[in-house]
Amino acid sequence: MPQQPPLPDILDRPVRYLAGVSERRAQLLAGELGITTYGELLMHLPFRYIDRSRVYRVADLRGEDSTQYFQIRARVRDKSMLGAGAKARLSVMVCDPSGEEMEMVWFRGVKFVTPKLEIGREYTFFGKVSEFNGYFQMVHPDIEPPAVAEGRESGMQGIYSSTEKLSAAGLGTSGFHRLMRTLWGLIETSIRETLPDYILQAEGLSSRRTALHDIHFPATPEALAEARRRLKFEELFFIQMKLLLSKQIRTRRSRGYPMPKVGDFFNDFYNHRLPFSLTGAQQRVIKEIRSDMVGGHQMNRLVQGDVGSGKTVVALMCALLAADNGYQSALMAPTEILATQHHASIARLTEGSGFRVELLTGSTRKKKREEIAAGLADGSIHLLVGTHALIEDTVRFARLGFVVIDEQHRFGVMQRAALRKSAFSADGTEPHVLVMSATPIPRTLAMTLYGELDVSVIDELPPGRKPIQTSHARESHRLRLFGFIKEQIAAGRQVYVVYPLIKESEKLDIANLEQGYAAMTQELPPPQYVTAVVHGKMNAKEKEHGMQLFKTGQAHVLVSTTVIEVGVDVPNATVMIIESAQRFGLSQLHQLRGRVGRGGEQSYCVLMTDDRLGADAKRRMDAMVATNDGFELAELDMQLRGAGDIEGTAQSGQPLDIRVANLATDGPVLEWARGVAEKVLGADPALAAPQNVLILARLHEMNRRRTAGAEIDFKQIS
Ligand code: ADP
Ligand code: MG
Repeated sequence: MPQQPPLPDILDRPVRYLAGVSERRAQLLAGELGITTYGELLMHLPFRYIDRSRVYRVADLRGEDSTQYFQIRARVRDKSMLGAGAKARLSVMVCDPSGEEMEMVWFRGVKFVTPKLEIGREYTFFGKVSEFNGYFQMVHPDIEPPAVAEGRESGMQGIYSSTEKLSAAGLGTSGFHRLMRTLWGLIETSIRETLPDYILQAEGLSSRRTALHDIHFPATPEALAEARRRLKFEELFFIQMKLLLSKQIRTRRSRGYPMPKVGDFFNDFYNHRLPFSLTGAQQRVIKEIRSDMVGGHQMNRLVQGDVGSGKTVVALMCALLAADNGYQSALMAPTEILATQHHASIARLTEGSGFRVELLTGSTRKKKREEIAAGLADGSIHLLVGTHALIEDTVRFARLGFVVIDEQHRFGVMQRAALRKSAFSADGTEPHVLVMSATPIPRTLAMTLYGELDVSVIDELPPGRKPIQTSHARESHRLRLFGFIKEQIAAGRQVYVVYPLIKESEKLDIANLEQGYAAMTQELPPPQYVTAVVHGKMNAKEKEHGMQLFKTGQAHVLVSTTVIEVGVDVPNATVMIIESAQRFGLSQLHQLRGRVGRGGEQSYCVLMTDDRLGADAKRRMDAMVATNDGFELAELDMQLRGAGDIEGTAQSGQPLDIRVANLATDGPVLEWARGVAEKVLGADPALAAPQNVLILARLHEMNRRRTAGAEIDFKQIS
């Protein structure tokens, strides 16, 4: 397919050419909202709509939401200037047909408004309502004579988001509305369809022009719903199209090392060393991975499994398979603590089997580094575990065939890419890549962010685990809490106490932790009780010392920041106390909770919060108390915070330009769009058929405008 030269497009015209956009407004639009062209202005969509066919009575306003817009039809009874100087305002008392009064107020533009309002005449007022001095009040409402209001063609009015500066420059929601009208008149005939007719027909979708018109100026709620449906579909369809194409390009192009053999390393481990039987889910996932590894294609697979579902052993067994086929493996973990722990447990499990595993982190000594470099070069090291020290230039494997990235959401895209690149062989063969995540992300998000990966899910916990009991406690319960900690310690158990730590308030957070530590040692005094402490400001050696005390059971309590959040495994610990729990997101809370409940004993998680809590924090605490299911919590997290804030979204490297669809609620639309995209590519993998020319053109345009993630290299598909 030849590259098409971009046509000059009215949608690329600078927004300042639009009537009503002064130099000043153009600057503000760019600065405040990043809008520089007609096209960008067009995509500034209303975030809400109000039904302007509904007229309220003043009496109906009682108890209504003060953030909503209302429309009042009322007669002007009196107007007067009140106050002086900066507080000077025009106050207009109005009276609705039932005789109830309210006040309309203007602080600005008084000269302009005063002559418009005649005493004794009726007007339509439109704005947000507040209560002031016992009166309902609207500040700076829109005013229209009823005749105008009745002549309006659209019953629904879009509310556009704006900023203080833009509103001051006359671009509040009504200002935007007027601008959109002007814009629409100019561009209406230039709106190009992006979906082929056969898809519009088959899926019952309206045209792009109709949809864009109706999303700005819907005549009815039904028209709005149709417009949304069409635009959501389009948005998600093209994202899926891009992901499927990348996946197709990758599979076609990439060569992977074939690993057909199941040999001694694997068999010996499976038959003699594995200390438990695998869960059904673990077996299934190992099979899925294996079937990827035997063929000549390179594997790119995401394994999602809740905390404690046993991902590590799955990764290890695949590394054993790689070793059986003569390949080396690398396992990269996000923290030194976690890498150290992986190394220790894998070394223990494989001890004496001839499988050589080494650890490389930032604090590995020079001499050890040299030893490792030699072992990597001569192939005697089978598995190298480490932190991002693994991706330094100096690390060279002789035959790297399999790469595992644990807790992948903690790494940046760059680091993930670097690890893969460092592992390319001269002929361009890439190692198999397994990324593991214990932060379940909702399916819709996984499909959008990682749609080019294959996904395996470990949806079963090892048997014999008792569900963790979670409770929410307030500061006033702290004494009781100490009593509970003592009971658990008396029963031979260990306790985590975790404090939040964020960069912006790091000093304060560390101070809190130190206070908590002091309180703990006072309530549980040594030598009867030992409390260890680990936080991010300590050096590696101090951290290791604290962890070691706790892991070996010498310390009863570990007070720490979230350094322990990922992956730490001390099965004898049964209590997780999370301080200032309201400051954590749901997925982080769930991660932390997953540090307990790893042995056969009943475990507990206590969420400590301030006595007073915001509504949102309360919902998070309630959700944690109500369920142990990470996937359920991930869904809820997404609904509470929106997809953009979910952990992993920002790091995924896909700048998601999603405006109409909502990943939290539009799962069904996403599935539908993906299904259609799959069908289209199934029938026409290179998008070469004439009927798909619009799709191809749109994908080119997305490349040109650099929206929605990485560019597609079209040379690869045609
Ligand atoms: P995660 O998936 O959170 O990384 P881990 O791999 O750390 O979980 O495993 C959690 C704990 O469960 C470890 O102590 C591990 O040895 C144990 N484990 C893993 N698989 C099984 C199994 N099939 N049966 C019993 N215990 C298991
Ligand atoms: Mg893990």
